[in-house]
Amino acid sequence: MSHQVLVINCGSSSLKFAVLGGHSNCPILEGIAERLDSPEQSFITFKHNGAKSVSALPGGDHQAAVGAIKEWIHNNKSAAIQLAGIGHRVVHGGELFSESVIVDERVLAGIEQCANIAPLHNPAHIKGIKEAQKQFGKLPHVAVFDTAFHQTLSADQYLYPIPMRLYREHHFRKYGFHGTSYRYISMQLAELSPTYGKQNALIAHLGNGASVCAISGGVSVDTSMGITPLEGLMMGTRSGSLDPSLLSFIAHAEQLSMDEALNILNKDSGLKGISEKSNDCRTLEMAQASGDTQADLALTMFASRAAKHLASVATNLESLEHLIFTGGIGENSALIRSRICQRLKTLGIILDETKNESVPRGEISCIAPINAVIKVWIIPTNEELLIAQDTLHLINKSIEPSPNT
Ligand code: ADP
Repeated sequence: MSHQVLVINCGSSSLKFAVLGGHSNCPILEGIAERLDSPEQSFITFKHNGAKSVSALPGGDHQAAVGAIKEWIHNNKSAAIQLAGIGHRVVHGGELFSESVIVDERVLAGIEQCANIAPLHNPAHIKGIKEAQKQFGKLPHVAVFDTAFHQTLSADQYLYPIPMRLYREHHFRKYGFHGTSYRYISMQLAELSPTYGKQNALIAHLGNGASVCAISGGVSVDTSMGITPLEGLMMGTRSGSLDPSLLSFIAHAEQLSMDEALNILNKDSGLKGISEKSNDCRTLEMAQASGDTQADLALTMFASRAAKHLASVATNLESLEHLIFTGGIGENSALIRSRICQRLKTLGIILDETKNESVPRGEISCIAPINAVIKVWIIPTNEELLIAQDTLHLINKSIEPSPNT
């Protein structure tokens, strides 16, 4: 059987894709279709063997994007792509999905049911799955949920202190996201540390979206994002946690609807809102280095809030053996790692600043002093690889003969 999987991450206006072999970290093919369902010209980018090609996407919708991927695979025989199945990233699995599943009618209905708490994401995922089902015939499809890894949180952590009736009737609670990344990092850590099953870890996934997670014996016990990814850390364009009353103050003061005010907290806040320059950490680091005090303030606030949330979720751990940085910022910004660790000295976290400054890009590195009790790691995340592995695992399981046959 082929071991290649097409991984699809379908958003409302973009569709990211990659073909992975299931073992290698490097995708055979990857790309993105952008500006879908937009009045502007949509286009699709393919990267294969170090070569990049960008072309216009006639039709400009999800159907056209999936069709273009299929056509590329068909036309580029030398790439020798033979798919075993398709893995779909799904943002919200609510309380219905605590692990990856083979997609069937019941699963599609479940993803649809969760759309009330993920109105921007889940409808787009359903569109992507249905389109891929239509165009890729009988290939099996697997859904991998961002929320699934955090379904192990206990009620005292996932409930909001609001009337229980709201949880009972509407499932309003903390779900947490970035679960595929946390599970991947946790598996990597299990390979690095033989006693990981008895250990505790904090993981900071710092990208454009950012969150933290406390893990005990490989299981998520607390995380910073909530019913949506807006809660928790300050992010690229998201405010993170703040006094909820502010939402109504903004709406009244600026004469906006609740949704418009929420849009400000999701799209115009965070690093972008404070710096008034960019949501991009690298751009802000360059600005800060040339004396931009507002960029410096944004970076300081980002680090401070990340440290606060790490300390907060650590209250669910009985000890701490590992702190891991991952995501675009966590993996690449020595400045942010250093500022966060400086604020976590009370937890016993110490960084080797020389190692922190000189780590090779894209590799697993330990950046704590050699004898440190708490190991501080950089572990590059790879959500696509885990989606591909889950997809292969479930396909293999579904075709294994049962013990009675
Ligand atoms: P997403 O949440 O979109 O997946 P990523 O994990 O790709 O985000 O992270 C994007 C962030 O990583 C951006 O803010 C970018 O500036 C930051 N980043 C990438 N490389 C560097 C670097 N060398 N130094 C500082 N920040 C970096």
